[in-house]
Amino acid sequence: LKIIGCNWKMNGSLDLLQKIAHITQKPYDDKNFEVIILPSYPFLSGFYRDFPKYVKLGAQDFYKQKNGAFTGEVSLEILKNLSCEYVLVGHSERRIHFQENNQTINAKLKNCLEEKIKPILCIGESIDHYQSGQTKNFLEQQVTQNLADIEDAQIVIAYEPIWSIGTGVTPSINEIQNIYDFLKDIAPANSKIIYGGSVNSSNFKDFIQIADGVLMGGSSIDIAEITKIYSSLQ
Ligand code: PEP
Repeated sequence: LKIIGCNWKMNGSLDLLQKIAHITQKPYDDKNFEVIILPSYPFLSGFYRDFPKYVKLGAQDFYKQKNGAFTGEVSLEILKNLSCEYVLVGHSERRIHFQENNQTINAKLKNCLEEKIKPILCIGESIDHYQSGQTKNFLEQQVTQNLADIEDAQIVIAYEPIWSIGTGVTPSINEIQNIYDFLKDIAPANSKIIYGGSVNSSNFKDFIQIADGVLMGGSSIDIAEITKIYSSLQ
């Protein structure tokens, strides 16, 4: 199954939720694709009222404790109660704005595996690492540290070059193929490797041919874009 992940980030409204729910009423080819919507927390609880069951739900983050006096936080227990199957771990925006480091991310991945919720681990190099030819070294370090003591878990790894997120610039097809092969070699055997970074309705087909799916930010909340992408899955 190729993953089509839709990370809404800190965007969205009830209106957007209903419009996108409407687009997804028509079943897609679920033998080939799995559509996962990752809205912000407040939209999780009403999700299945509006969306058909074959669209999967994910969250963008969580706090490590199961429950208790942690005002403002949301646990995996709560996410599972809301039928979330997936959760993002280590998105570059969390690494940059919320100081999540490789050790924090390793601990979060272990939490996910214990709680049996599927993590989508995000990794990716900065423009400086890319330009100085350090991409593979950097990714290898992230994979090694993020997945320390985690062996044959089923993990989805989203390769998202930071310089490609929200910029409209993407690596070439050859570069993505090269990184995909590299990550397949160093990641746990059952991992899926998906690509994220400025995916849109025009380049989407190229990426899903190489990778095990895509993770989209901007296009996933753009009605025209998501309509085109969704209808191409049918
Ligand atoms: C993302 O942040 O996961 C992402 C891929 O964003 P965008 O599609 O907007 O580049």
